Amino acid sequence: MVRAIVGANWGDEGKGKLTDALAATADVVVRYQGGANAGHTIINEFGKFALHTLPSGIFHPDVTNIIGPGVALDIPKFMAELAAVRAQDVVLPHILVSDRAQMVMPYHIDLDRYQEEHLGGRSYGSTKSGISPFYADKYAKKGFQVSELFLPEEKLRARLETVLEEKNIILKHLYGKDPIDPDTIFDTLMDWRDQIAPHVTDVGVFLDRAWRDGQEILLEGQLGALKDPDHGIYPMVTSSSTLAAFGAIGAGLPPYAIQQITAVVKAYSSAVGAGAFVSEIFGEEADELRRRGGDAGEFGATTGRPRRMGWFDCVASRYGCRIQGATDVVLTIVDALGYLDEIPVCVAYEIDGEIVRNFPVTTRLERAKPVLQNFPGWRCDIRSIRRYEDLPEACRNYVDFIEQELGVPITLVGNGPGREQLIPRTSRL
Ligand code: GDP
Repeated sequence: MVRAIVGANWGDEGKGKLTDALAATADVVVRYQGGANAGHTIINEFGKFALHTLPSGIFHPDVTNIIGPGVALDIPKFMAELAAVRAQDVVLPHILVSDRAQMVMPYHIDLDRYQEEHLGGRSYGSTKSGISPFYADKYAKKGFQVSELFLPEEKLRARLETVLEEKNIILKHLYGKDPIDPDTIFDTLMDWRDQIAPHVTDVGVFLDRAWRDGQEILLEGQLGALKDPDHGIYPMVTSSSTLAAFGAIGAGLPPYAIQQITAVVKAYSSAVGAGAFVSEIFGEEADELRRRGGDAGEFGATTGRPRRMGWFDCVASRYGCRIQGATDVVLTIVDALGYLDEIPVCVAYEIDGEIVRNFPVTTRLERAKPVLQNFPGWRCDIRSIRRYEDLPEACRNYVDFIEQELGVPITLVGNGPGREQLIPRTSRL
């Protein structure tokens, strides 16, 4: 049984918390795309953790955690995160790294920064983790797989020199920077080889066996549907597919193995980086929602930067669920809305005088204005409630409305950042 846990919005929906909670009954958790450019905040009995690279199943000693071939692996960040988790007395499970995963190289991080500086006001709002140059190199066949660390040294050195030749031309002539010394990078790679070696294996064989044995495998997505390069708000997207379908590729499992696709949807909207964000709010209204959102406000787990805030967007979330192929929805952070007398929801877009309910392509999206509808708030703290029927009626009505709009059963409602703050719900669809 393979279940994907993916975002239906712009990311930061609470996938990490859900994965940590569901991992209690799973055997394997796989990260299959993205890198250390987005963070999952997890709060459990060991403390509070901001994971960027490690899968969110690492708090369960019997769960094998896997970095799949589709991930942008930043080895220093991976090792630092392992050390940080170990320092908080977590008994670590097996952590396997695909020999096919490619490595974020030190120059990817530099190039990401230079690219953003060069673009100035037209920048993508990158986290400068090297992700865009990494995937550009991967698809241009200039990336380095983890397996290459174990090549005869002269072979690796020769390939590195070829790749760096081009990088140095770009560094010098486009960005006016010093060239990279291949020896320095080579020494770094040798250091990485020694650190990562105990984790490296052919995870495809492991996963195939686990799947055939009927084990419970969770595919943990990063970011959300609207950041997908094909289906999102291109070009203000991330550089790897955020969709559940890509889970099969980025992990190395048959597409038909994925039986359940759980889309995580947030009860309001937040986004990071640039790009059209139709239901965005500003000023004090946004500050208040930002302060009350998430576990300690809506601030980036990787960068600490304030997230952009908005009301729940039916058009974007319905589209997010559709392109994810959601079989069920977990609606998170409903508790954060308890301060509002009335809760605005974006129910449609107005584009050039036309009312639109299907999420449009970026060129049209940029002209969209939100059509808002107000719902009664519940004006209380719901965090201690454990049964769905005990939620205030206005809160249940809000959840029912969102389910109707999404057209996908909402099976769990998040009412706090803790593992236990996930309330089972029977769908009304
Ligand atoms: P992810 O990248 O999708 O895992 O999401 P993030 O971790 O970036 O952001 C979600 C934030 O919301 C984290 O700080 C979580 O601890 C927190 N969170 C998750 N579910 C809930 C919830 O139901 N209520 C509240 N208040 N916080 C939640």
